[in-house]
Amino acid sequence: MTGRIVAAPPPAPPGDVAARATAGFRQRYGGEPAGRWAAPGRVNLIGEHTDYNDGFVLPFALPLRTVVAAAARADERWTVWSELDDDPVEFGPAEADEPGRVTGWAAYVAGVVWALRAAGHAVPGARLAVASDVPVGSGLSSSAAIEAAVLAALVDLGGLDLPAQRWPRLAQQAENDYVGAPTGIMDQSAVIRGRPGHALFLDCRSEEVEQIPFDLDAAGLAMLVIDSRAPHRHADGEYAARRRSCERAARALGVPALRDVPADGLDAALARLDDDETRRRVRHVVTEDQRVLDSVALLRAGRVRDIGPLLTASHTSMRDDFEITVPEVDTAVEAALAAGAYGARMTGGGFGGCVLALVEASAADAAAAAVAAAYAERGFAAPATVTALPAGGVTRLD
Ligand code: ADP
Ligand code: MG
Repeated sequence: MTGRIVAAPPPAPPGDVAARATAGFRQRYGGEPAGRWAAPGRVNLIGEHTDYNDGFVLPFALPLRTVVAAAARADERWTVWSELDDDPVEFGPAEADEPGRVTGWAAYVAGVVWALRAAGHAVPGARLAVASDVPVGSGLSSSAAIEAAVLAALVDLGGLDLPAQRWPRLAQQAENDYVGAPTGIMDQSAVIRGRPGHALFLDCRSEEVEQIPFDLDAAGLAMLVIDSRAPHRHADGEYAARRRSCERAARALGVPALRDVPADGLDAALARLDDDETRRRVRHVVTEDQRVLDSVALLRAGRVRDIGPLLTASHTSMRDDFEITVPEVDTAVEAALAAGAYGARMTGGGFGGCVLALVEASAADAAAAAVAAAYAERGFAAPATVTALPAGGVTRLD
């Protein structure tokens, strides 16, 4: 049931995503691509708003993928077409070398060219055609998927000497410094380093990663990924405000980051803060880091179902302490739990995005239907739900 749509599918272009990339390449450029490269979307299993506090996250790669069909060209120019847009975008070294010159979606591609060139690599000119099953802007990291697929294509086409452990940093630089979107390294790490049947435990301070067994299929479980379809309300401003609040709290507590407040030192730390809102923000971050560590320990012990209560506690903490949920995601979580999910939580930065629910595989359809019914009752736009097994990271297809 990998990636199977179980309720209210979003409108997707017809046909297999890799076939669509090839068809786009043929139609736009004529001839055949030299190869196809695919990178997945991702979700974060647990660890929300912990990344910029130097803490822990536990994402996994999804079966939904972005595919780039590409071929090198003789001159030093890059042409890119995406099925999201009618017209291809073309740029050369002058635009690639100056962040901000290429704008819109093609900036994610120019950003990768820029990051590679800035690191001293001879990036081959190329024609690229992009197709994707990763929904854009739903918090499943379509941005990291396109970056990783383009990066893999350019590295292979140019025979560049760039070990895969350096790819996440380069893709992040493309997004931070060329596109101008401030993100941590979680998304790029997950879509590049993801492994089937595993989640990626990432220490955002040391950037060390560890593959953690998370074989839902073998356990008879499924993860519902429910796109809440909630309109993003003030998400950027609220994100910045949470970040500032955490930084202020760390300064007040005299630690480099909230990661340095141990769970068993939480009460003492809270007693030193004088306003209730800041205390609740700190409590979320510190308890969330601990929930990641506890989840990792349970998964290492093969106790997959037992992470359910941690997922739900994470949601409660985001709802009550960090105050980043909205009625749609709270409704999806409550309905999934009422339908028998072991645990459920919003995933991503908040104010919309997706909800995860851990369910018996045999109960996935019923849980998705229960969420859809709860939405209908409240008059919300129908949610889109897929069941997803942890998948592999970026690869060359052929
Ligand atoms: P998310 O990563 O959560 O999907 P972002 O806002 O970070 O949302 O990234 C979405 C942006 O990435 C899109 O607006 C577009 O500019 C770019 N993008 C992602 N996937 C594609 C694609 N298949 N084709 C063209 N642009 C894409
Ligand atoms: Mg993104």
